[in-house]
Amino acid sequence: MSTSLSERLNAELSSLRESGLLISPRVLDAANRARTRVDGREVVNLASNNYLGFADHPALKARAAEYLEKWGVGAGAVRTIAGTLRIHEELEEQIAAFKHTGSALVLHSGFTTNQGVLGALLREGDLVISDELNHASIIDGLRLTKATKKVYRHADAADLERLLQEHDTDGLKLVVTDGVFSMDGDLAPLDALVAVARKHGAVTYVDDAHGSGVMGESGRGTVHHFGFEYADDVIQVGTLSKAWGGVGGYAAGHANLRQLLINRARPYLFSTAQAPATVGALAAALEEVQRDPTLMERLWDNTRYFKAELARLGFDTMGSVTPITPVLFGEPAAAFEASRRLFEQGVFAVGLGFPTVPRGSARIRNIVTAEHTRDDLDHALQAYQTVGRSLGVTAA
Ligand SMILES: *Cc1c(COP(=O)(O)O)cnc(C)c1O
Repeated sequence: MSTSLSERLNAELSSLRESGLLISPRVLDAANRARTRVDGREVVNLASNNYLGFADHPALKARAAEYLEKWGVGAGAVRTIAGTLRIHEELEEQIAAFKHTGSALVLHSGFTTNQGVLGALLREGDLVISDELNHASIIDGLRLTKATKKVYRHADAADLERLLQEHDTDGLKLVVTDGVFSMDGDLAPLDALVAVARKHGAVTYVDDAHGSGVMGESGRGTVHHFGFEYADDVIQVGTLSKAWGGVGGYAAGHANLRQLLINRARPYLFSTAQAPATVGALAAALEEVQRDPTLMERLWDNTRYFKAELARLGFDTMGSVTPITPVLFGEPAAAFEASRRLFEQGVFAVGLGFPTVPRGSARIRNIVTAEHTRDDLDHALQAYQTVGRSLGVTAA
């Protein structure tokens, strides 16, 4: 007898529940701001990727409304048939100019960008070497290709070099890394990685989802931070869904990259183009970050302040150097309990355990934004102090 749908659903859900991995997301009752309402409670929000406060920014909302009025609610088709609006092309030119790259293409999300670009670029006989902590969308994107896949130890240029020495090919060699790692808040050592890649004739592919809008001049990203933005052997992909406040993804690099992706990237070919309001918000975001330098200043002032104060209270922020600020608890139960207690004190920060992060390194991940005031951060720090003491994580 075959399995019924009810049996399948119940069995899967019970197994998730038993292993403590069943997710039930908290619900925001207001826009995603630094202070918002979650499950009916007023909170300081340390859980978003809204680095620049763009998710609810007046300039973005105004442009979104303008594009909505002028261009309608939907693009009406996939890009290759009849869905390429003038505003899509303008946004791509704007991204290429901002990133200092020969071309750029916009896709629907960071997730589909990795699937689209890796799927379009790599063939059988190619070699791809990926950081062990790379994002799930890179892993899924690589599953779509017939290239030979190897994994190097996290941020370890020597291990990358070892693999490049052991595995040679006449095909394309691609080194794939996140720019900023989403769980630890550390930076890929791009200077070392690109040097090793170049020595072996490999191209470097940087997923800068958490670096774009955060690193480099005016948030141009991690590749800009390390001075590789004009390089033809570096591909930048990323999301428009985090710092940029909307939803979408981009790939930027070599002048011919865009043309190839238009022809080969399957999400581009088979999924309807981004909605006009989203395109408007993103166009305004790129202008706003360059018009208002205080956004980046506040993001980094807040980041430095929050990290220093957490350390002063005795917390381990795991050497993070970006606005992503993990606080180590070790065991998942401790991280989840701390998150629950923080929430009771009006602080929204999510606990993460295995398999999202390695065993023994369960943590709460905080993301500081430009929108947080000193009061918001002090409120959060006060709550951390109380919770750290009550759980015996920090000294009384
Ligand atoms: C968040 C993230 C993505 C996915 O981006 P979306 O636009 O949310 O789909 C891809 N890569 C990395 C490294 C990310 O952190």
